[in-house]
Amino acid sequence: MTAQEIRQAFLDFFASKGHTIVPSAPIVVKNDPTLMFTNAGMNQFKSIFLGEEPVKFPRVADTQRCLRVSGKHNDLEEVGIDSYHHTMFEMLGNWSFGDYFKKEAIAWSWELLTEIYKLDKSRLYVTYFEGDEKEGLAADTETLELWREFVADDHILPGNKKDNFWEMGETGPCGPCSEIHYDGRTDAERAQIDGATLVNGVDDSVMEIWNDVFMQFNRLKDGSLQPLPAKHVDTGMGFERLVRIMQGKTSNYDTDVFQPLIQFIAEKSGIVYGPHPALSKGEGSDLQASEAHALKVLSFGEDLVEAKTDVAMRVMADHIRAISFAIADGQLPSNNKAGYVIRRILRRAVRYSYQYLNFKEPFLNQLVPILAQQFVGVFTELVNQKDFVQKVVLEEEVAFLRTLDRGINKFEEFIQKEAQEIELIKNLANDSSSSLPTAFKDSKTTIIRGNFAFELSDTYGFPLDLTELMAREIGWTVDVEGYETALAQQKSRSRAATAIDTGDWILLKEDDTVEFVGYTETETIAHVVKYRKV
Ligand code: ATP
Ligand code: MG
Ligand code: MG
Ligand code: MG
Repeated sequence: MTAQEIRQAFLDFFASKGHTIVPSAPIVVKNDPTLMFTNAGMNQFKSIFLGEEPVKFPRVADTQRCLRVSGKHNDLEEVGIDSYHHTMFEMLGNWSFGDYFKKEAIAWSWELLTEIYKLDKSRLYVTYFEGDEKEGLAADTETLELWREFVADDHILPGNKKDNFWEMGETGPCGPCSEIHYDGRTDAERAQIDGATLVNGVDDSVMEIWNDVFMQFNRLKDGSLQPLPAKHVDTGMGFERLVRIMQGKTSNYDTDVFQPLIQFIAEKSGIVYGPHPALSKGEGSDLQASEAHALKVLSFGEDLVEAKTDVAMRVMADHIRAISFAIADGQLPSNNKAGYVIRRILRRAVRYSYQYLNFKEPFLNQLVPILAQQFVGVFTELVNQKDFVQKVVLEEEVAFLRTLDRGINKFEEFIQKEAQEIELIKNLANDSSSSLPTAFKDSKTTIIRGNFAFELSDTYGFPLDLTELMAREIGWTVDVEGYETALAQQKSRSRAATAIDTGDWILLKEDDTVEFVGYTETETIAHVVKYRKV
């Protein structure tokens, strides 16, 4: 089945169960101070859950474009390294607003997966909430019993609050949940290690695909749980993960969702997309092993140097989706709040493409039409605005490419100089005639000073997280506190400067012709200086 057909089969199935198919909400959230971007299908129904809005349709289903790059659900750092977390993804969902509850939700999840999509039952595991004493919440044995009708006991697992009590954010609707996981390992691997031990672990081939949440509470600001006026069902299935399983792939990036983008990048860069075996390697259920693996991949350590072009292609294919949908839904890249999140994502992608795939000229924007083509008949917002989106991405690229090269050189010079100093200190400490304590023999600086990280951001437009990413790639870290201090100092300096300068500047009136004064060094045309010196 193609991705299109898989999506349609989901919607058709729930339509046949009496659900009204509704459109996706925008990915950009403008009316909820607790949220920057849509992070789950349920966001647009929050006020229905809270009883603040009347129920129009008791059963609905949709595919929701989601972004998990900030707040409680932030997957940005996994992207490109593991094979199934994206910044932007589609969440297929079905809802009951005070209508059906656990029994139907569970039965339909199972029916869709095993009878429509025909997934191998022996590869599926399900979970239920084991309860939480501190919160005074009992185990969800009702869910356990309901699953027993379909699933053998050794494939039903209890889960803790972290995995089996879903919350939208620090506050808001929440409730116990039941997840469905899929074991995509080879038969030989499965014979060796029982899949049950890998659920909610970190094996790249054993992943969660669907979450049935039973909404019953509202988390208040003081941390307490208040029962909702009615009980609801809220489910979310990762579309790209489902497509990967249906298409028999070991990575989401190998599906027809990502391949058109990746193949275009590969063709234009003249570099073949691997994927490097290390990028889909199972790592067992040990979290430390996974972190070590991620670090190794990120630092392109040991045998992983060739993996960096694969990571770069994945990141570009992933990030262009996040950027494009955000822009199409009204969030332009900018220097603060949600706009800065989008700019940061864009700059990460540009840096990868520049440094690892040799794109020295603006390129990322060329992915926009390919992406838009994939969403014809699905998300018309992107299709209709693709030229505008491409233009905005191009302008951002042009602006960042102006300083990127110099910034990278600066970064490398800095690292070299620091490393040399360390060598010098070590040599001195080893020299018996020197007065330097021998403790300095083992000196190693692997910390990027905060004021340098600030210089990179202020002069060259490197967002802090980009500097951190580049540091991680060579096994260094950034002194974030030092960065914050430098930032605060600059803010107070510029406040003082504005106070002196304002007399020389006038604010342009609406009907004044806006004179193009120039870009500020790290800005785009969208931020053309709107003041004119008199
Ligand atoms: P995971 O444990 O894999 O991070 P999750 O428990 O955080 O997933 P939920 O909040 O339960 O995810 O969201 C519902 C579904 O959305 C998940 O079962 C998964 O299939 C999908 N999903 C979640 N995060 C991502 C992501 N970053 N990229 C792609 N799909 C995702
Ligand atoms: Mg998650
Ligand atoms: Mg999970
Ligand atoms: Mg989950």
